[in-house]
Amino acid sequence: MIAIDAISKWYGDFRVLHECTTAVAKGEVVVVCGPSGSGKSTLIKCVNALEPFQKGQITVDGTKIADKATNLPKLRSRVGMVFQHFELFPHLSITDNLTIAQRKVLGRPKEEAHKRGLDLLARVGLSAHAKKFPGQLSGGQQQRVAIARALAMNPVVMLFDEPTSALDPEMVGEVLDVMVELAREGMTMMVVTHEMGFARKVADRVIFMDQGEIVEDAGKDDFFGKPRSERAQTFLSKIL
Ligand code: ATP
Ligand code: MG
Repeated sequence: MIAIDAISKWYGDFRVLHECTTAVAKGEVVVVCGPSGSGKSTLIKCVNALEPFQKGQITVDGTKIADKATNLPKLRSRVGMVFQHFELFPHLSITDNLTIAQRKVLGRPKEEAHKRGLDLLARVGLSAHAKKFPGQLSGGQQQRVAIARALAMNPVVMLFDEPTSALDPEMVGEVLDVMVELAREGMTMMVVTHEMGFARKVADRVIFMDQGEIVEDAGKDDFFGKPRSERAQTFLSKIL
């Protein structure tokens, strides 16, 4: 579903990604972890073509991102993305947040977009809040809406960048529950998170990054059993 092939990226002289290679198969859940500044967000943004890269190639569902002919808006519409800060449109109701891209990007008729939006709102347990505005919801609720909004586009893959790290602790669980359910339903997911409980529960693989490199890319049991690299061992000993 996603093939990341020898990606390198620089900001001026600073090399932020170095020869990163990995793949995510259909239905697979891959957790990406590593120290602050190691390039996790940059890597995941490259997959969504939100960041350009200078070397290598990324293929998403058969489409090569770095090819000049690729229609990037079309590609992005098939890749769901949920960020740390929920980034709902503050001036739009929850319903409008859920339907606007379906209508403007996918051209879905109003009724159909509405139905899909409300179905997904129900799925994240927020049916009662359809008419509210984002500012009237808690952080955890807003993040669940952001997930529903991404799913409304029928993405082939979902990318998450620390979706729970800006939340108050008591709201982390409700967002992770939605993500666990999604993983169990077979969604292809690439998730930057330090929630190792989530990783243990549903990840197929764990990628550990440090200084722009993929240092470790292992099955979950191998990774938690004993990471090969000293850098990953040190990292795990700090966060577990
Ligand atoms: P965190 O855990 O703090 O979110 P991260 O692993 O997601 O970190 P990135 O945000 O991908 O790290 O950043 C990787 C490196 O690239 C950092 O050293 C960062 O300072 C640098 N960087 C990110 N964006 C830019 C930019 N626009 N210009 C220059 N350097 C940048
Ligand atoms: Mg980051």
